[in-house]
Amino acid sequence: MLDHPRTGQPFESPVPPGSGWPGDPATPATPQALDAAQVAQLAGQTNSIEELDALISVCRACPRLVAWREDVAVTKRKSFADQPYWGRPVPGWGSATPRIVIVGLAPAANGANRTGRMFTGDRSGDQLYAALYRAGLVNQPTSVDAADGLHTNDIRIVAPVRCAPPDNKPTTVERNTCAPWLDAEWRLLAPHARVLVALGGFAWQVALRMAAERVPKPKPKFGHGVVAELGTDLRLIGCYHPSQQNMFTGRLTPAMLDDIFGRAALIAGLRD
Ligand code: SF4
Repeated sequence: MLDHPRTGQPFESPVPPGSGWPGDPATPATPQALDAAQVAQLAGQTNSIEELDALISVCRACPRLVAWREDVAVTKRKSFADQPYWGRPVPGWGSATPRIVIVGLAPAANGANRTGRMFTGDRSGDQLYAALYRAGLVNQPTSVDAADGLHTNDIRIVAPVRCAPPDNKPTTVERNTCAPWLDAEWRLLAPHARVLVALGGFAWQVALRMAAERVPKPKPKFGHGVVAELGTDLRLIGCYHPSQQNMFTGRLTPAMLDDIFGRAALIAGLRD
């Protein structure tokens, strides 16, 4: 058992469901999906974001990813050796009724897989949340751990794969197995969302699949700053992923992120 870096409460790694980890949506009784059919069944019958988050957070349907996320949670990166690791799937983060939905990829092994919250505890998240703060979409510029007080009324961050994959590469089978979780999330979010922001070309394809019935022909192509109309009341904005490499090489700059999230807030009616 190691102490949570903020609350000081001791936890096993991975964290047992309902054991008091900040923001843990599950209880020891939350049903676990053990294969693709159970993911589809549980996701299909879910009618609230709270319930969906709980179900996702205990999913064990992809044997390779379960083994990897739990192995990383035990071996840990040296710099985090004194911390407990979440080591479970990472549900979406943010408002249950967001105007803006941000589509990422999969959790980072020593970031969200450690902290239990999307984009929290890694360099990509540092850039993303700082930009969201400058755009007035979250209440603080940093996202360090799941008990740091970060809050939003306006956005939700989602991902097509909820477990950290080896080499950041989930297989096609794993992507397909996880897809019903995001389908269910979008079913619940779509009535509120006015803007989708896709972080990178792959997330762009995921967003087009989420909103498939509204996608025009020919399909809009990804580009940084491209805005696609999906029906009359939804826009999709492309944004380079705020990866360490993109930020380090200057392909993506803080000013470019400010432009994207400023436009998203404007289109979503959150800013005049
Ligand atoms: S990747 Fe998705 S479907 Fe696979 S174990 Fe994780 S949460 Fe479950």
